[in-house]
Amino acid sequence: MPITLPELPFDKSALEPYISSRTFEFHHGKHHKAYVDNTNKLIDGTDLAGKDLETIIKTASADPARKGLFNNAAQVWNHSFFWKCLKPGGGGKPSGKIATKIDADLGGYEKFCADFRNAGVTQFGSGWAWLVLKGEKLAIVQSANAETPLVQGVKPVLVVDVWEHAYYLDYQNRRQDFLQACLDHLINWEFVNANLE
Ligand code: FE
Repeated sequence: MPITLPELPFDKSALEPYISSRTFEFHHGKHHKAYVDNTNKLIDGTDLAGKDLETIIKTASADPARKGLFNNAAQVWNHSFFWKCLKPGGGGKPSGKIATKIDADLGGYEKFCADFRNAGVTQFGSGWAWLVLKGEKLAIVQSANAETPLVQGVKPVLVVDVWEHAYYLDYQNRRQDFLQACLDHLINWEFVNANLE
């Protein structure tokens, strides 16, 4: 079974005006697809052919000779996870378990927003801003390029892509405005809550 490109969980125009259909045409249809195609090429005929994506990522992560495979496979996973973190009419203050944990672990919703936005803005170059579970506690972390908390012993619960390809068509260099739009209008808190279970 090859690795496949998942469908977006919403129509490509559903997040407008915050993320345009044109951005999704490139970000999902070109970038994400290229990571899928490259992963399939790089596992073809190897011991990882037919393995599930998480196994491929974890195996490649432990082998410096497979850095190219790690980068592509991790980017497949990171993007598939990112799409599920977004929804039309999302964002704003969450409810449920995530709200309680943000208050308990991160100093409340306003401080979470400032710290998460800052993590995205200060990630130098390409990367990701994550909310993860470290043991029982929430933490905000950054990752560079394709790096993923999946192989760092923590559980990802939310991510925003801060590669330029995620926002440049809609926001040019205004990465902070893109992050703020995600926080205010797009985060799928139901998905984040489900990730805490
Ligand atoms: Fe991306």
